[in-house]
Amino acid sequence: MTPEQFRQHGHEVVDWIADYWSRVGDLPVRSQVSPGDVRATLPAQAPEQGEPFSAVLADLDRVVLPGTTHWQHPGFFGYFPANTSGPSVLGDLVSAGLGVQGMSWVTSPAATEVEQHVMDWFAELLGLPSSFRSTSTGGGVVQDSSSGANLVALLAALHRTSTGATVRHGVDPDRATVYVSAETHSSMEKAVRIAGLGSDAVRIVEVDADLAMRPAALAARLERDVARGYTPVLVCATVGTTSTTAIDPLAELGPICQKYGVWLHVDAAYAGVSAIVPELRELQAGVEWADSYTTDAHKWLLTGFDATLFWVADRAALTGALAILPEYLRNAATDAGSVVDLRDWQIPLGRRFRALKLWFVLRWYGAEGLRAHIRSHVAMAQQLAGWAGADERFDVVAPHPFSLVCLRPRWSAEVDADVATMTLLERLNDGGEVFLTHTTVGGRAVLRVAVGAPATTPAHVERVWALLRENHDFLATDFAAAAAEREAQRAAERAAAEQAAVERAAAEQAAAEQAAVERATAEQAAAEQAAAEQPAAEQAPAEQAAADRAAAEQAPAEQAAADRAAAEQTAAEDAGEESVSPSTTG
Ligand SMILES: *Cc1c(COP(=O)(O)O)cnc(C)c1O
Repeated sequence: MTPEQFRQHGHEVVDWIADYWSRVGDLPVRSQVSPGDVRATLPAQAPEQGEPFSAVLADLDRVVLPGTTHWQHPGFFGYFPANTSGPSVLGDLVSAGLGVQGMSWVTSPAATEVEQHVMDWFAELLGLPSSFRSTSTGGGVVQDSSSGANLVALLAALHRTSTGATVRHGVDPDRATVYVSAETHSSMEKAVRIAGLGSDAVRIVEVDADLAMRPAALAARLERDVARGYTPVLVCATVGTTSTTAIDPLAELGPICQKYGVWLHVDAAYAGVSAIVPELRELQAGVEWADSYTTDAHKWLLTGFDATLFWVADRAALTGALAILPEYLRNAATDAGSVVDLRDWQIPLGRRFRALKLWFVLRWYGAEGLRAHIRSHVAMAQQLAGWAGADERFDVVAPHPFSLVCLRPRWSAEVDADVATMTLLERLNDGGEVFLTHTTVGGRAVLRVAVGAPATTPAHVERVWALLRENHDFLATDFAAAAAEREAQRAAERAAAEQAAVERAAAEQAAAEQAAVERATAEQAAAEQAAAEQPAAEQAPAEQAAADRAAAEQAPAEQAAADRAAAEQTAAEDAGEESVSPSTTG
């Protein structure tokens, strides 16, 4: 593709994206395809010959869009948002166009220095500790994800705890311990596994009624583990847990971590960016205790994936764990120690120029634009929580300081509440206008409404609230009708059973009476027979003998009479035969 062809098709692609953003609100939020549907639209073999670009563009509509869940849809309230924006896409486009590898300062100095600078800007905008600045002991770096950042933080913590021994000897899985709560993101346990500690190293600290880590419980676990000879390595505190946006109390956890010399990592993947709004900054009070901190610009800060903002207070722990310098990467700037090589701050070697999109976003919206973005979503979420809290059909189940509201629909007692809640969720998502996801709180199903798509306006939040109520009413009526039907059926069955019992009792009564009558008759007959039998028995032989005798006397006389009658008959026939014969022959 020549630059001129790129210009033409590039414009077509930009038009396509702009059109997509204009019409995304009319598409069903959740993709409607079944597994395999998308692949079934693709040819079995890769194209042997190049194709016109128009054919590729056409397949975006034919193949890709039907199989896309529209995260930029204004009715997208699922998971956490995955923001993007014009300046973000254009920054990514430039990064792709430059195609540089920013692994070392020398491989493209701007890629490193713009990143350092943007990260320092953000540290200030978010009110993060001054130790996080590149001008201090620490510094920031753009990671691929908060999952990756959690792993990198753990590797730095292991390095510091072992005073560098892990680099040569590896980890001590039987001694090292890592502290989380049941609400901590699963990527932390995954990091523990990847680091070679194994899940047994994870200590799950108890939470309070607001699902925040209990400082006293952390202290007790640390105390006990140290007494038993374990080496606590890292405490992961969360600002804005994934399930409900609970906040672990950094100001109380920090001093405990310091006392035990354990690394405090703050996972603020979703909620951390909200600190750009001064009035929300208090929610992460105590952040100055953090040894490392991660927040995702790619969730809620108008920047496309991937753009994780990660800081450490002591960059030496991080680079100590990850730096490795093969001969082919040696260069004068690195050797002189006058530059930062960001490959030493991450797991891969290669790295994209991700700071460009952050730079574009910051410059297009300005800090005020980003604050307005965050504030509007928080306000919409508080509005929704207010409506739900005042509605007898819903309970707001957890604190909601950011833009996630967790709702538990109320159902009548005869309904399985979790099944009903999940049915409500499916109905909403099947409708195509909105998309929500769920979690469990206290073991019970809860709907998560995460306000945060850039296109979402108060009207969309009003709409999701209307749909929640409408569908709740529909299902509640449906469940009540089903319950009434079940109750009517049960009543009918009960009545039938009672009727059958009555009939059975009547039949048994009649049978019993009949039997009694028969028994009485039989007894009467038996009595009479018994009375009659005595003389009859005596009389019988004489009577029989007399009868036999009479029969014997009568028999010869009868025989003789019969013989006589037969002879007379024969004679009469002979006479008749002679008289009729002439007429029968003539
Ligand atoms: C979303 C989230 C993560 C994972 O973020 P990625 O950047 O997608 O890896 C980690 N921790 C918390 C608290 C999250 O909400």
